[in-house]
Amino acid sequence: MLAGAARRAGHRVQVLDLAREWMIDHHAVPRNESVFIGDHDKPSESLRLFQEHWCSLCAEGWPSGLDSGQHEEVIVHLKAGFDEVEAAASAFCHTEIGAWFKRKISETTPPELVGISVLYSGQVIAALTLTHLVKAQWPKVPVVWGGAHVTALGEEISRDTRYGSCVDGFVFGYAEKTWVELLDSVANGSSWPQEVIRAGEEFRRAKDYPEIVPCFGTPVACGGRLTLPAQSSRGCAFGRCAFCTYPAIEGTARNLDLYPVREVVMEAERRGAVVSFKDSLITLNRLDELSKLIDGRVQWSGCTKLHPGLNADLLRRLAAAGCRTLEVGLETLTESGQELILKRQTPKLFLEFLDAAAAAGVSIVVNYITGFPRVDHDEEQRWLTKVLAEISTRPNLVAKVEHNRFQFERLSPMGRQPERFGLVVTGSWPWASVLDWKLAA
Ligand code: SF4
Repeated sequence: MLAGAARRAGHRVQVLDLAREWMIDHHAVPRNESVFIGDHDKPSESLRLFQEHWCSLCAEGWPSGLDSGQHEEVIVHLKAGFDEVEAAASAFCHTEIGAWFKRKISETTPPELVGISVLYSGQVIAALTLTHLVKAQWPKVPVVWGGAHVTALGEEISRDTRYGSCVDGFVFGYAEKTWVELLDSVANGSSWPQEVIRAGEEFRRAKDYPEIVPCFGTPVACGGRLTLPAQSSRGCAFGRCAFCTYPAIEGTARNLDLYPVREVVMEAERRGAVVSFKDSLITLNRLDELSKLIDGRVQWSGCTKLHPGLNADLLRRLAAAGCRTLEVGLETLTESGQELILKRQTPKLFLEFLDAAAAAGVSIVVNYITGFPRVDHDEEQRWLTKVLAEISTRPNLVAKVEHNRFQFERLSPMGRQPERFGLVVTGSWPWASVLDWKLAA
């Protein structure tokens, strides 16, 4: 999206997809074409092993030494102080990780600006290491960070100059317009747009463009079918789930112009790719609009929410229009859990959805969470077992459960007002989006 916005404005941009290149350079990525498309057409087991390998490389270079039980907490969630994270990033510059980054940098055309997108806490160490190495190679080139994780830490970054020890600027939220303004100002030598802040400066959300056509360059399928991302809305039209950070990170819910979707679908058609919608929640009306627009020309997937209108008729129409996989956030079927997270969905509604998906031939992914505060663990397990049993007893249904443990995120409604949910924060770390917690007395 940023490359598309920049090129439309006449700037030259080179995109380095370093996470992907790291995987290709270090691992044999298996061929994978699952019955699910979109985000769930991934070799999950291999990706887990790749992450373990990454963590063990990081642990070897970690200044204070880490045992394997700490890898996830410290390296992935980044439960560590400023000094520890900074020392690790500096140390990584002289390890295999740093040598690989140096090679990638030296193969790149010298830029006037480097932007780094940080999606989650597990990328912060790599982003800091990369920033140090960029500065070593091109000392005058500013480095600006953005992305979902940077947005999740926006208020902290705007209060504490230590975040800016080597990063020149931060951008919060969707930022295509701000990005173009920043490129203009770098090209003209004028001052940066006020939405690009230095650490310790007032928080400002970046400006986006709703009608940008993403620029894919020459994407190549990595380990299976080619998937192109598209987006038809930003934010979440429901936006109330107490554990979720998407509404805060993505901003006010709004539908986007469908012109870019049309372009992505045409591109996917040309390349024999499938389309994965990245919307946090596609409303039923939008699903209908997308069906009419796509009309079966490509296969596609998206994420929505259980709703009585998501019945066999609608799902058949979606299937006829190419929709192959739908993801829904069930989260929990325990009453106390639903009350806590402010998301009510009856077992009856869920079972009707399973029947409708089986009848229409749409594969489904059900997100389920256990470990919610104040919710009986055995009850959570009983409901999870019931969900799995209901799925496995429907012979025509293609479905899987994505089971995650509850994470207490600082930007979720729970993280912002823990007392409202009977919780007390017991631990926070500067670069971590998750907090430690306990029940209030
Ligand atoms: S969990 Fe889904 S429905 Fe709930 S607020 Fe987040 S994106 Fe919206």
